[in-house]
Amino acid sequence: MSDYRIETKCVQGGYTPGNGEPRQIPIIQSTTFKYATGEDMGRLFDLEASGYFYSRLQNPTCDMVAAKICEMEGGSAAMLTSSGQAASFYAVFNIASCGDHVVASSAIYGGTYNLFSVTMKKMGLDFTFVSPDCSEEELEAAFRPNTKAVFGETIANPALTVLDIEKFARAAHAHGVPLIVDNTFATPVNCRPFEWGADIVTHSTTKYMDGHGASLGGCIVDSGKFDWLAHADRFPGLCTPDDSYHGVTYAEKFGLGGAFITKATAQLMRDFGSMASPVSAYLLNLGLESLHVRMPRHCENAQAVAEFLEKHGKVAWVNYPGLPSSPYYGLAKKYMPGGTCGVVSFGIRGGREAASRFMAALKLAAIETHVADARTCCLHPASTTHRQMNDEELAAAGVPGDLVRFSCGLESKEDLIADIAQALERA
Ligand SMILES: *Cc1c(COP(=O)(O)O)cnc(C)c1O
Repeated sequence: MSDYRIETKCVQGGYTPGNGEPRQIPIIQSTTFKYATGEDMGRLFDLEASGYFYSRLQNPTCDMVAAKICEMEGGSAAMLTSSGQAASFYAVFNIASCGDHVVASSAIYGGTYNLFSVTMKKMGLDFTFVSPDCSEEELEAAFRPNTKAVFGETIANPALTVLDIEKFARAAHAHGVPLIVDNTFATPVNCRPFEWGADIVTHSTTKYMDGHGASLGGCIVDSGKFDWLAHADRFPGLCTPDDSYHGVTYAEKFGLGGAFITKATAQLMRDFGSMASPVSAYLLNLGLESLHVRMPRHCENAQAVAEFLEKHGKVAWVNYPGLPSSPYYGLAKKYMPGGTCGVVSFGIRGGREAASRFMAALKLAAIETHVADARTCCLHPASTTHRQMNDEELAAAGVPGDLVRFSCGLESKEDLIADIAQALERA
């Protein structure tokens, strides 16, 4: 499947049925798997043979869908998680723990920011947040001797900043650490971060990949390119024996291509258990089958909406990386020549109150804590998802108080623009 184009991988990746087998991915709705002898199962426990024994660690349906996303991203191994939050947590915690430090872009999803700056901080990890627009020198200054990873979002939710993946990868690699990129908004249809030097990719599959607001999920993909053994003293968890798993040394036993995901499965999924359900994986796969058809339409609608808003007198500013007026237009054209995402953010003249009148007047677009859905939805982050942030933090994250996030669905763009026009009149 690896020689095929992204469209073919979306439709047929991850599962090739044999003669007489189901055409659609089978839902293996079973917690456990049967073996003839204790020795047979023992080999699985020792990671000597691959197979399934308990669905908290691995399930065949989930693995087929993970394999499809792995092919779409051009990675070496992948795993599903129960949510995007779990994917972000596992991807970082797999290589950084108490006493370690991570450099992260300040323009990231609010939930990820909270995970890093509050919850993981309580676990003893330290994060330095840098502007995605920082100079190479500012980025350089953020590193410490105990830095274990760099983290950013291809297109930040909701700031819509575009990450200069090559700049962040260069800095990470100069310090012997991997670059982890959350590719949720661009999806592998529009951007494949591994082609630009990223080492690990995460997803909230809840967004465009599912695309229908049907099932929560996450995914971690490893490029298989980061050489853990070349930096063995920095990554003892991958390069020294794991006493909690029969003394296995992941980087030696599973090589560059398999070490990261095997460790995250054998340790983190075993202990934290944020596993995707087989039914959720099945629903996610239905979404993936049309992702390459839906993404261009989301982008076309967003482009039309952004251009309409930019010309409207009641709109103070518009932020969409597909607009030539965007400071990220150049980076977007470089990393995502086929389009960025369906989300547009803008400010309404009259600030917070005008924004709520606008939201209340919308008919097609629903107020939801969601983006990237087939149905258009919108949100005022400062009063909802980002309300735990103070004004300074909001500004640093690129989410000013008057920002409305508008996620263009798959409806007619003429109908969407008409809805926005009548709601602006009443703002
Ligand atoms: C939604 C989102 C997440 C969190 O994903 P959940 O599936 O809601 O847990 C992480 N990153 C980005 C960019 C997101 O948009």
